[in-house]
Amino acid sequence: MTTTTIGIFGGGQLGRMMAQAALPLNIKCTFFEAKTDCPAAALGPVISTEANNGLQDFIASADVFSLEFENTPLADVDVLIQNKSLFPPRQALATAQNRLLEKALFDELNIPVAAYRAVDSLASLKQAVVDLGLPIVLKTATGGYDGKGQFVLREADQIEQAWAELGPAKSLIAESFVQFSREVSIIAVRGQDGEVRTWDLAENHHHHGILSHSIVPAPDSQDLQPVAQDYITRLLHHLNYVGVLTLELFVTEQGLYANEMAPRVHNSGHWSIEGAVCSQFENHIRAVAGLPLGSTQTIRPTVMVNIIGQYPKKEDVLALSCAHLHLYDKSERAGRKIGHITLMPLDSNELTSLCIQLARILPEPLALTEEMQINV
Ligand code: AMP
Repeated sequence: MTTTTIGIFGGGQLGRMMAQAALPLNIKCTFFEAKTDCPAAALGPVISTEANNGLQDFIASADVFSLEFENTPLADVDVLIQNKSLFPPRQALATAQNRLLEKALFDELNIPVAAYRAVDSLASLKQAVVDLGLPIVLKTATGGYDGKGQFVLREADQIEQAWAELGPAKSLIAESFVQFSREVSIIAVRGQDGEVRTWDLAENHHHHGILSHSIVPAPDSQDLQPVAQDYITRLLHHLNYVGVLTLELFVTEQGLYANEMAPRVHNSGHWSIEGAVCSQFENHIRAVAGLPLGSTQTIRPTVMVNIIGQYPKKEDVLALSCAHLHLYDKSERAGRKIGHITLMPLDSNELTSLCIQLARILPEPLALTEEMQINV
């Protein structure tokens, strides 16, 4: 059967951009999301998770299924996969939803990670501090994102406070603090025939725990790229994965350490809409629909800047040469990702000038000044 409709768990900007990529292929999307006026609503029908029979209606609405929301309830997935296919597979989702399972998988596949311990009591937290030394990063095993559900424990006298804050989550992970120089991510896609393609590494910069901007290719990443590619390929084949997978990594003096994986298209891959021959969104759709994958080659070095909290004036952004604007149709709120801008400078001089202009235009302060050093 030729796939014509893909049902997507979630209806945020990732679903919106997936559906935008599906449209030229005449593939339609439906969405399963609490609020029916979500960012994806302009691109296809949204079935409310709150509606009576919502799940059944969603399952009936499409031929094959995917997700844009990594906390998609496994209970819903279990109902779905009795009759229909989900890409990526359930195991990838279940693993990514639990940091302890995720780290165990990285260990199993010999992908380096920071030393860690499972923590489920004050006593086990104290033992983790003895075993790992300080500082450690204490995280909830499930449910955390964008740095939420985390506590950096630097001194032994913070143990009780850390436990009071995160202990109610019951299942925690204590990780050694990684002395990294940079954070990067690798994004890859695997087709239904097992073919794997990988985009260039992105160097990611965060502001208050939220991705602020990504630079692709990550500067000086020639040696890192094959290693990251090898790690993500191990994951993809092991999980019999179909679709786009993201692996976030720390760059250290000892090499790359995996932090976490996201079983979906990723914010650090938005650059690929304009910067790569085939974007993460299009290749994800192709994989889910069982179609041949497109080239992941970078066309031009690219900087992707998130619009967080407040919109800039559209006219100001579009007046910049080599800038593409993506708005997600979300209301403004502090700390919320509401759009992004892709800069495709022709050379490092133009990049410097674009970053200076953009820093003036964006209402939220951005740590863009570091970009002045970057050579494209
Ligand atoms: P996460 O939610 O795991 O992606 O963590 C959010 C951010 O916290 C990461 O992007 C890092 O900047 C930082 N972080 C997480 N884990 C560690 C660690 N083990 N050592 C140092 N920094 C970390």
